[in-house]
Amino acid sequence: MILYYGEDKAEIILNAIQSCPIMICNNNENIYDLLLKEGFVDTSNNDNYSVNIEDLKRSSGVYASIPEAIYDDESNEYMIKSIRRIVGLSNYFKYDDINHIANLIHELSHLVKSYVDEYKVIDDNLINRNGLIVYTYKLTNEDNVVSMKLLDEKSVGIEEGTNSLDEENIMSNYFDSNYEVRGYVLVTAAARALTDNFNLKKDIHDSHFFANKNNFIEKYNSMSTDDSYQRLDMLMDETLRLEYEKFANAFNSEKLQESHQKLNDKIEPLRNILSEFNKDYQNIK
Ligand SMILES: [Zn+2]
Repeated sequence: MILYYGEDKAEIILNAIQSCPIMICNNNENIYDLLLKEGFVDTSNNDNYSVNIEDLKRSSGVYASIPEAIYDDESNEYMIKSIRRIVGLSNYFKYDDINHIANLIHELSHLVKSYVDEYKVIDDNLINRNGLIVYTYKLTNEDNVVSMKLLDEKSVGIEEGTNSLDEENIMSNYFDSNYEVRGYVLVTAAARALTDNFNLKKDIHDSHFFANKNNFIEKYNSMSTDDSYQRLDMLMDETLRLEYEKFANAFNSEKLQESHQKLNDKIEPLRNILSEFNKDYQNIK
């Protein structure tokens, strides 16, 4: 991972991996069961999960974290006391299967890209950064028990696309030159166009690791049009939702066909946004 992401990210990668156990599900467990057993599911509030429970049960891997938030009566502020992390792998995980190694690389990549400034408190909002994803929670304090409620999530599509692209690059550079991602195909293709057309690979990795996403957004928009990133971001979120829908319809050929059609309909708008170049962009550093 250090070879691929670069020496300047080495310390973050090592610290992140040291902070996080990697667990494989028992025979009769799925990823959701594992998260529940290890205390990563807030059973009091199902609305906190944007990836629905059925998607988690089907999943082959996960990176999850949970903060311990407290309310300090003296300063009247919420604070993050500690963070627990987990990388979970499905019960069919095998070390000698290239696709399973790819799952592990994918989840470890989410972990290392979230380590810096993973949680931040702003008044009574909790901001959770997972790579490029931003989750916003509302914090409430009752009898010294702090609870969180999900208000908003953004940029899941662009995170899964760029992370899957990294998975594919790492696998094809170091394990199997023919490796291709199997899930999230369209958001990965969009991420590839984003990094290739605009040459933004390092900027995206810097924003993943150093939590300075605005630098990347500004640079991208300066090469494209003013609000191009924001439109791409929303379109990739919609595309990712369709990719989840496709997984859910895997065993229903009629619905699967519909999902394929809906995904195909996103190709043209994605291509259009990704080919919006500012005519002076070559002159911008
Ligand atoms: Zn992922």
